Amino acid sequence: MLAQAGCRDDCMTEKLYLVNSYMKECESKVTRAEGKEVVLDRTVFYPAGGGQPSDVGTIKAGGEVYSVVDARKEGNDVVHVLDREAGGLAGRLVLCNIDWDRRYSLMRYHTAVHLIDAVFVNRYSGGQITGGQLYTDRARFDVDLDGFDRDTAARLIQESTLLGQEGHEVRAYALQREEAVKIAMLARTAPGRELLEKLDEVRVVEIVGVDMQADGGLHVRDTREIGIISLLKYTNNGRRHKRLEIKLS
Ligand SMILES: [Zn+2]
Repeated sequence: MLAQAGCRDDCMTEKLYLVNSYMKECESKVTRAEGKEVVLDRTVFYPAGGGQPSDVGTIKAGGEVYSVVDARKEGNDVVHVLDREAGGLAGRLVLCNIDWDRRYSLMRYHTAVHLIDAVFVNRYSGGQITGGQLYTDRARFDVDLDGFDRDTAARLIQESTLLGQEGHEVRAYALQREEAVKIAMLARTAPGRELLEKLDEVRVVEIVGVDMQADGGLHVRDTREIGIISLLKYTNNGRRHKRLEIKLS
């Protein structure tokens, strides 16, 4: 099964990043241009969402190079915010390039948080990891578990690194809702489970042999690409609430 990321009838921008998160460039047609914003028929630019910041990069039209400073989802479209007015681009063919180093860091951090979450769920019942935010040089998330302390955090991070180094394949694909709702722990928060019930099709990210989660973000293909995870910061925000920041090397 492959991610259904291409265009359906109700889909405006074809989301190439969901099909292949390693695609760094594509040729596209500008379907809409207004002020500094353009919509393309297909794109490699990931729009901000799910704790993963948007891609940045460039769009080239003939000899003109525009910087893409932000990308966001608007319905089924991806809106690209450029560094200057782009009204004249409507209907033009353009070449899209993402800032790959930045994207790849975000993919590594994103997958690292999945691994940590998988180890956490496996080890500690009655708790959950929430509120993840990814950056290019770190990631943070909150742990909600009674008795979780700095030592537990260090063990969790160490075990996650070891699990990653085993080299598990990471796959993304779509499941029909009827199938998806049968899988325990596919969505781990109440809002996530609510959303799952409403979707016809659910994008699933599977770390083979380790974990499955409903997820719309971008990941590396093999957990060995994550590298070594270290605990950068541990903050005690109350008996059950701890905030962790991690760094990869
Ligand atoms: Zn993810």
